[in-house]
Amino acid sequence: MSDPDKTDLDEYGFATRAVREGHHRTNEGENSEPIFPTSSYVFSSAAEAAARFAGEQAGNIYSRFTNPTVRTFEERLAAMEGAECCVATASGMSAITATCIGLLKTGDHIVSSSSIFGTTTVLFERFLAKLGIETTFVELSDVNAWQHAIRAETKLLFLETPSNPLAELADIAALAQIAHRHDCLLVVDNCFCTPALQQPLALGADIIIHSATKYLDGQGRCVGGAVCGTREVVGDSVYGFLRTAGPTMSAFNAWVFLKGLETLQLRMHAHCANAIVLAQWLEQHAAVERVYYPGLESHPQHRLAKQQQTGFGGIVSFELKGGKEAGWKLIDATRMISITANLGDTKTTITHPATTTHGRLTPEQREAAGISDRLVRIAVGLEDIEDIKADLARGM
Ligand SMILES: *Cc1c(COP(=O)(O)O)cnc(C)c1O
Repeated sequence: MSDPDKTDLDEYGFATRAVREGHHRTNEGENSEPIFPTSSYVFSSAAEAAARFAGEQAGNIYSRFTNPTVRTFEERLAAMEGAECCVATASGMSAITATCIGLLKTGDHIVSSSSIFGTTTVLFERFLAKLGIETTFVELSDVNAWQHAIRAETKLLFLETPSNPLAELADIAALAQIAHRHDCLLVVDNCFCTPALQQPLALGADIIIHSATKYLDGQGRCVGGAVCGTREVVGDSVYGFLRTAGPTMSAFNAWVFLKGLETLQLRMHAHCANAIVLAQWLEQHAAVERVYYPGLESHPQHRLAKQQQTGFGGIVSFELKGGKEAGWKLIDATRMISITANLGDTKTTITHPATTTHGRLTPEQREAAGISDRLVRIAVGLEDIEDIKADLARGM
């Protein structure tokens, strides 16, 4: 078989592109994608070196700018998100940082959901604020609040849907309309769903953020991230900052993520299948006050979730009647489930958000995000669901 290049694969389905996109086979005829562990590249002559540096000739110069393994990952993820362009980053946080610094200047304004990853809140409130970039936080699901928070200086609307850890949803299409009416870009952190379950660009979003650390890897091995969007916004502005400031993805990590993408759809469906069983079991458990999972009929945005997503994801959060003490007791009673704040792993993980992922927020910020002391978050893995239930039942 010949090596189909990017344009050849345009007609293929999601799963096929997840397995094959972006691999430009070398003369060695390798079937699996090669890793290129090289910091720099050689030129055939001084003139060629000069042409590359001047940008007159395409090609590799240095791995802070481009690397073939990283490019394979970028082409593949771009295809899966339906994006023109993708740039890989050293972490999910550097993807968000590169997007903000690449696109914004002093005096610009962000409207952000208050229900976002704790460290993203710190980035906005502490570090972007220091550069004179202000953020207004609004309730994720309240479309009017987004509308009212927009000012003349607003450039970005930022959100995660479903949110972490309460699984609230934003109506992406509605917010995209509002953003575009005000000449703003809508940025969606698609970490929880991945393109296997939700494709925000098709709903009108402009930029996709990924923490590849989570489901894209899917096996808890590497830290990485990505930004997807148009060539102009992502390929120029975001990449321009990235290649200068340097938080780029390593070739080895890109290779691990490539292998993750190949099984992403299968794994996401398996996470969803386990999560719905667990959510339903928790919902009828006497020790549980409330369960947060978009797949439950009781979820206030269940209909939107069915409309906007092709699956409900692997994150199930719940409040215990006994409060923080009961939460810590439940966590400490587990024998199999991993006590860690990471998510998106084959291994089920359990965490107490108020004292871990959201521990650096002020009590007021936590309250605004709805993170109570009673809340426990499970990232449902791929073990037998009966074993997961049994491990939790012990501490409840
Ligand atoms: C983990 C996470 C991030 C940050 O990603 P890192 O790879 O840890 O830097 C951003 N957003 C969400 C939703 C996350 O879960």
